Amino acid sequence: MKTKDYDLIIIGGGMVGSTLACLMAQGFAQNARHAKKRIAVIEAFEPSRFDPQQPYDLRVSAISAVSRQILQQTGVWQALQNKRISPYEAMHVWDGTGDGEIHFNAAEIGVANLGHIIENNVIQSSLAEKISQFSNIDWLCPQRLKALRIEEDHARVTLDDNTLLTTHLVVGADGAHSKCRELAGIAVDREHYGQSGLVAVVTTEVSHQATAWQRFMPSGPLAFLPLADGSSSIVWTLPSDRCPAYVAMDESKFKSTVAETLDYKLGAITSVSQRAAFPFYGSQAKNYVKPRIALIGDAAHTIHPLAGQGVNLGIKDAAALAKQLLKTPTADLGLLKGLRRYERARRGDNVTTMRAMEGFRLLFGHSNPFVMNVRNLGLNALNKLPVIKNEIIRKAMGV
Ligand SMILES: Cc1cc2nc3c(=O)[nH]c(=O)nc-3n(C[C@H](O)[C@H](O)[C@H](O)COP(=O)(O)OP(=O)(O)OC[C@H]3O[C@@H](n4cnc5c(N)ncnc54)[C@H](O)[C@@H]3O)c2cc1C
Repeated sequence: MKTKDYDLIIIGGGMVGSTLACLMAQGFAQNARHAKKRIAVIEAFEPSRFDPQQPYDLRVSAISAVSRQILQQTGVWQALQNKRISPYEAMHVWDGTGDGEIHFNAAEIGVANLGHIIENNVIQSSLAEKISQFSNIDWLCPQRLKALRIEEDHARVTLDDNTLLTTHLVVGADGAHSKCRELAGIAVDREHYGQSGLVAVVTTEVSHQATAWQRFMPSGPLAFLPLADGSSSIVWTLPSDRCPAYVAMDESKFKSTVAETLDYKLGAITSVSQRAAFPFYGSQAKNYVKPRIALIGDAAHTIHPLAGQGVNLGIKDAAALAKQLLKTPTADLGLLKGLRRYERARRGDNVTTMRAMEGFRLLFGHSNPFVMNVRNLGLNALNKLPVIKNEIIRKAMGV
């Protein structure tokens, strides 16, 4: 049986796991104390190479200013800028049940944009390209985690083809259904929202004006995220039992329904891609760490994507864990004391953001006339309070 030793094994080379791999590889290379350390990334699927002719990925993320800074640190941001990224300068949010609305503008807070809309597969494949340039990372793909055994001074990882690896620390970055979390015996608190997100790429009669548009309805928000070629990526939150009917809906009916739901802010929908749907739920792992185990990204927590924060929280997890690991005074990265510092640094932000998203979901989900009235009045009042409004947007940008 083949066996190989590593200092760090990352399960999952998605956006979050790959960010951690790049930060750690860089940190190891810059410090003589870590010069001999090696990393393995285990990823189930090879990310597709970027081709400017390929249709837009149905999954996109609104990348915040803080995530951009972290991706700049990995050197990947520069590569992303030469691909398809779309800065958005404004955000317009309104209540579908009344006249309440709020508008956020980058110029009002003295920045060039509020964030960037980037396809998930473009981020992941750019990180994978970067990983291939590090001599201290082995990218093991396609490979899957099959078994995990925690010993006192190391962890043993078995892959699907029975390759056996040993390491001081295993990081679970393998998404919401994390096998690593399950094998490590870490329980998760999960709340199903009964909502799913329908995603598609559409073109519209009226330009998106580099603005993210979001209309809140009691059944859930409809968001239009601006893409670089003038089209928009939509995320439409619907009750899970009604979502399949919208995915299967006749194309012309779907286009007119979407345009109407967006109050014709961007006129008619002129084309629509294939559609897909994802269930939404909030979750928090009971522990982010155990001896020789740390969870990051969706493996540790998921939130409702109504403010596009999920991967941004995960990227912050990666940066916080890297910072902690690179400070470790001993050769062993898997000691609980250091890992706990990572959990303390991140759990508060992750839980607060999850609760805030749940608060928005419940507030905008109310169809009680009194609540609707107060909500609409509140939105309009907030729109006229630049100090508070700008503070909200700074928080969303992670600055
Ligand atoms: C509709 C929708 C819209 C969203 N919009 C936004 C947004 O605008 N902004 C935002 O910040 N967030 C958004 N999110 C959330 C965001 O997509 C997730 O938070 C993010 O993808 C999590 O990244 P991750 O790397 O932690 O996990 P994942 O993206 O799930 O990656 C996990 C990786 O692990 C691999 N893997 C899984 N199991 C194994 C295994 N056993 N062995 C080896 N490899 C394995 C997978 O192949 C994958 O590559 C949205 C989510 C949804 C559903």
